[in-house]
Amino acid sequence: MRTLRSLREDLHLLVKYHLKHPVETHPAREEALGLVELPFDLEAYVAKLEALGGERFAVRREAELAFDGRPHPMLTLRSRAPARATLLVIAGIHGNERASLLAVPEILERFEAGRGVRLVVISPANPVGASQLSRYNARGYDINRDFKRFETEEARVIRAVFERERPDFVVSLHEGPQDATFMFANEHVPSEVARRGLQAIAAGGATLAVRDYFGLPLDPPGLSASTRVSRVANRVWAAVPGMMATIQYSAERSIPELVLESSWRERDASTRIRPHVDLVDAVSRAISDQP
Ligand SMILES: [Zn+2]
Repeated sequence: MRTLRSLREDLHLLVKYHLKHPVETHPAREEALGLVELPFDLEAYVAKLEALGGERFAVRREAELAFDGRPHPMLTLRSRAPARATLLVIAGIHGNERASLLAVPEILERFEAGRGVRLVVISPANPVGASQLSRYNARGYDINRDFKRFETEEARVIRAVFERERPDFVVSLHEGPQDATFMFANEHVPSEVARRGLQAIAAGGATLAVRDYFGLPLDPPGLSASTRVSRVANRVWAAVPGMMATIQYSAERSIPELVLESSWRERDASTRIRPHVDLVDAVSRAISDQP
């Protein structure tokens, strides 16, 4: 039986993560719920991504957020080869979920032009949060709750990238407190694409979760699909506290989106990074095979 204390803690987390905006007044360090910190240096990371610009990828600073007296750039990396479909990857909208950021160089390396898919990556989507090990931005906002009101510069920058690049598919990379990997899919994700994504994640050695972080069973393992109940909940959530995540923003534009949630409890960085690389690779192959 659940104790009153654990119920109170659950309620506190529910309010904190899903009903309150902004959650903090600053980029609060966020390492509760068993998060293992992966080392990350913003300047070195940005330099590494900028060095990837060249024949294959165009790199661009979409914004520079001021914090702590230094610029915190948000970059896009875009494959140059022409293609019929665009895959947009959002990396690190929650700054403390660092595996999603650290996966980007390998995602680019694995990407094969000529498949008919153009890759656009936004990273870091939350540079202040990334440098401070914070889920939030400089003002304590959760950017991934801000796709209704657009009170944060980061959400406005990401919206502008959506409008300019017109993605046909979106993958948003996250980590979470559960001890295995799963993904959310909105109602526009073809089941074949989700199936191939799950297969690639499992083949890479990740364990597919049988429950999501709300404790709800996942069937098939690893997939939290859009349901009538979740769609109603999303509408209420957008209407009452005025909050919206990218997955719903995409859904309203008829764009399929997958949200990866791997485990932030894992200590080994390459194990943490792997499902992010495998999923993006699998989705880009699956889209290119679609008629
Ligand atoms: Zn997240």
